[in-house]
Amino acid sequence: MTVDQKVRQTLAELGVTESAGVVALFAEVCETMERERRELVNRVAADKAERDRACKELRDRWLARKNGLLSLVDERWLKKAPRELKPVVGQHFNALRKASEQLEVGVLAREMKCRVAASAGAVLEARSPIVAGTTVLSGVSPDLTLPSIRRPLGSMHPVTRVLREIEEIFIALGFRIETGPEIETVEYNFDALNIPETHPSRDDWDTLYVDEKTVLRTHTSPVQIRAMRKYGAPLYVIAPGKVYRHDKPDSSHATMFHQVEGLAVDRDITFADLKGTLDYFAKRFFGEKVRTSFHPSFFPFTEPSGEVAISCTLCDGRGCRVCKESGWLEVMGCGMVHPEVLRQGGIEPEEFTGWAFGMGVERYAMMKYGIDDIQLFFQNDVRFLKQF
Ligand SMILES: [Zn+2]
Repeated sequence: MTVDQKVRQTLAELGVTESAGVVALFAEVCETMERERRELVNRVAADKAERDRACKELRDRWLARKNGLLSLVDERWLKKAPRELKPVVGQHFNALRKASEQLEVGVLAREMKCRVAASAGAVLEARSPIVAGTTVLSGVSPDLTLPSIRRPLGSMHPVTRVLREIEEIFIALGFRIETGPEIETVEYNFDALNIPETHPSRDDWDTLYVDEKTVLRTHTSPVQIRAMRKYGAPLYVIAPGKVYRHDKPDSSHATMFHQVEGLAVDRDITFADLKGTLDYFAKRFFGEKVRTSFHPSFFPFTEPSGEVAISCTLCDGRGCRVCKESGWLEVMGCGMVHPEVLRQGGIEPEEFTGWAFGMGVERYAMMKYGIDDIQLFFQNDVRFLKQF
């Protein structure tokens, strides 16, 4: 006789007259209920609608008010139990009702969902032993003695290295670092720097125009104007950054390279301060033995203007192939800030004076490391870069 048939009869009809029989009956019902519950959750249907339908079916079979198996137990066994068996039937019926909470749709659905997720995980684990850690799932355990995959560490680009070195020297002298946009207005790049419209550097051949009023900056000098307008005087800044020229690439020209611009504005500062500062910088950067030499030059934004040369680091001024037998290497341009440029920066030239300088970072890196082709910096050849 099945449980379904048994719950439709009274205890008397089933021939149960003592508590041992009651215990056995309830054990059978409990077992059946648990078996059906387990069968359901183990069936693992990935489709949610299908899961919900199966849960409701099982729940109704046991818990429906009308003709649910528990109702039948209540009606036939508990209510119709002989007086002496009532306590034990009642006690076991309560236990059964408590256990039947596991059949509520929400509880069942939750458990089935967990099973679905776990079974998906099991598929993954079976495919990849790494997912399961060191657990042997596919019959092959990972060999923990194998060397791991190494990600080689890179090194700092020689241009960045030199740039940092230059920055550190000037920061120690009290300069602050200032940056500006690489896409610059014509006003900042030319007009405010006293470079008139007729100046050859504004030619299409020299300059990369974005549109009529914007250019890829041809030098870091626009940052001078920006810094003066932003901070006023006194002012000590350096402006490192990328600049762009319409140059034909060769071993000493590139369409993009780095400059460091320097600007000092204060009361009563002179060309002597400029010379002292740049001489100190050259000795710190190229070595104590280096001598500097200043000679006149021209830039629209400085007056007077000068070029700075250092004694050849290779031949110490005796003359060699690198310095073209002159004994000197040109390293930067400099000069006293033109009064018009100070005015453009919102600084009164009657009260303040200033000096500025500009240097090409790639050229310094080439001198420092003995590199003879500027293009090497930008070709991303690891064989070249890993030497630094
Ligand atoms: Zn030399």
